Amino acid sequence: MTRSTPAPLTVGIVGFGKIARDQHVPAIAATGLFRLAAVVSPHGATPEETGLGDVPVFRSQREMLAALPGLDSVAICTPPAVRHALTVEALRAGKHVLIEKPPAATLTELRLLLDAAEGAKRTLFAAWHSRFNAAVEETRRRLTGATVRHVAITWKEDVRRWHPGQDWIFAAGGFGVFDPGINALSILTEILPAPVVVRDAELRVPANRDTPIAATLRMEGAAGSTVGTVTADFDFLQEGEQTWTIAIETDGVGTDGGRLDLTHGGTRLSVDGVPVLAEPDAEYQGIYRRFRHLIADAAGDVDARPLQLVADACLVGRWRTTDAFHW
Ligand code: NAP
Repeated sequence: MTRSTPAPLTVGIVGFGKIARDQHVPAIAATGLFRLAAVVSPHGATPEETGLGDVPVFRSQREMLAALPGLDSVAICTPPAVRHALTVEALRAGKHVLIEKPPAATLTELRLLLDAAEGAKRTLFAAWHSRFNAAVEETRRRLTGATVRHVAITWKEDVRRWHPGQDWIFAAGGFGVFDPGINALSILTEILPAPVVVRDAELRVPANRDTPIAATLRMEGAAGSTVGTVTADFDFLQEGEQTWTIAIETDGVGTDGGRLDLTHGGTRLSVDGVPVLAEPDAEYQGIYRRFRHLIADAAGDVDARPLQLVADACLVGRWRTTDAFHW
């Protein structure tokens, strides 16, 4: 017997920028589990700009919620600084809420979002998109119960290429290089068999900006665990080839090899240099499938650990001033 496809729920996208256009709109269409009912664009994106025909555009979430009282859910795709207030507003209006990463600007904001979701009895899903790769799941499976000697994260990309003109990223609360770096930390916390603790960090902030453009972190497995040391090297000024890799050295017991390389942002896995998994990126389709399942199960999914590691790096880190940054 085949399981029938559930009727699509309506969703409004709040914040119609790069990620909404590049990933959310195509994933909503591809999965068919949601119907895009509206978008919110403070500057008032035109139909030519949205490419969405007669899908209505509202200037604020408040306007959208008032105009569409029957809307089932929203996807908050704004920069993180405004995410908390928008999420609380949507939950209080009875909507299920999907939030982009990073899920909040601070840990307290995130804690309060959990309370708001519980109070509203609605699904809150804080999506970590990099986790939605088969190679990440395969790595997690191999590392279950393993002894991990060392992990080296290298996450280097060109901010001018991926975030052109997005000044919010270098303003306070914009995360700077932790905007991509937190993706690596979301994978790390998913695959390791034990928690890690940040021991040391260096954060390099351009003289004319608020947030780091580069950072190095030194972490260790929790005391008494089977996880050794972890280093992370985040850089936002990498031109040419972009690097999103996690190299894992294990004792080889139970992992079918001593060295695991998770590369290309978590989409490919090699073991002892031999490719074992490479699947095309379908992260956002996975996100919408999970959102639909969570709603059906009256459940939520909010994992604070990647945000905790960023906050901890900011607490124990040494802050250094570096060259001014201009687009
Ligand atoms: P973006 O291109 O700057 O888009 C953000 C959008 O949010 C803008 O269009 C802005 O509208 C809108 N916005 C700002 N305040 C708002 C408010 N109060 N209500 C409604 N809309 C509001 O940024 P992005 O690259 O899409 O990134 C957004 C989030 O997605 C970030 O947290 C980022 O980490 C995450 N993300 C980005 C990528 C990527 O590759 N870019 C990948 C994965 C995840 P106006 O234009 O009208 O000001």
